[in-house]
Amino acid sequence: MKRLVAALAAGTLALTLGACSSTNSSESDTEGLTVATSFYPLAWLIESIGGDDVTVISMTPANVEPHDYELSPSDIAKMNEADLVVYVEGFQPSMDAAVEQISGPEVLELSDSVGLLPLEEDHGDDDDEAHEHDHGNLDPHFWLDPERMSDAGEAIEESLSQADSANVTTYQEGQETVAGQLTDLDTEFADGLATCERQTIVTTHAAFGYLTNRYGLTQVAISGIDPEAEPSPADLAAIKSTIEETGTTTVFTEELASPKTAEAVASEAGADLATLNPLESQPSDGDYVSGMEANLAALQGALGCN
Ligand SMILES: [Zn+2]
Repeated sequence: MKRLVAALAAGTLALTLGACSSTNSSESDTEGLTVATSFYPLAWLIESIGGDDVTVISMTPANVEPHDYELSPSDIAKMNEADLVVYVEGFQPSMDAAVEQISGPEVLELSDSVGLLPLEEDHGDDDDEAHEHDHGNLDPHFWLDPERMSDAGEAIEESLSQADSANVTTYQEGQETVAGQLTDLDTEFADGLATCERQTIVTTHAAFGYLTNRYGLTQVAISGIDPEAEPSPADLAAIKSTIEETGTTTVFTEELASPKTAEAVASEAGADLATLNPLESQPSDGDYVSGMEANLAALQGALGCN
């Protein structure tokens, strides 16, 4: 009984403090935290951990390829009203610039938490881009590795708990549930890709480096880190010989990038086409986990796994 009274008193105190600190954003604070994030996999992670206590705003609209999406001034104003902003630098230049302009929210930048690695420079043409910004030569696509996704979940849980200490238990439970899902996913991938006839995948853009590293595969990407970059004729010739040398049977397209170059490469090399989803937007059917499972099935088909 004493404990209940103490809990109630603590709850009242938290509510009072919350009310005092919300002088400039009157209505949103009664509905819990608002978290702004750049694109789908981060939104999925924050929603999964935050549950009903958190409202998540994805700055990139659904079904839009986020790398080159330009945030509008009203997007940035909306972001400035959030309690917390979560993003990974070096993925979306417009988001990187927007974060410099906001002053209201706490900001969680995930590069260090997930241990980003340098880009694999297989196209050798990024000398000019290397010094553009701090994380400009790190590969941001960490969410395609379940283990790094779990590391991001821990960092998000910590930030949510700091911003809203009244709901720490909710966030811890949410994080544990997500970590369990991601461990299961990692096991499915490790088992499902353990015995395959081939190890090389040809992708539309270089989104799958962390996934291929984790499971002992090699990625050959038609464009680099940005799906809109055009490969040179020399790049294409090199990809075609890799396909022939490795006996690659499949060239992967993506839902939100043009399949034109992939189709040309596949037809020249006599390979089939299939879809591999970089999950930069919500899959048309399902979520992050089912999208990753569909990716596993596509990889098993292309690589002859049993
Ligand atoms: Zn990408």
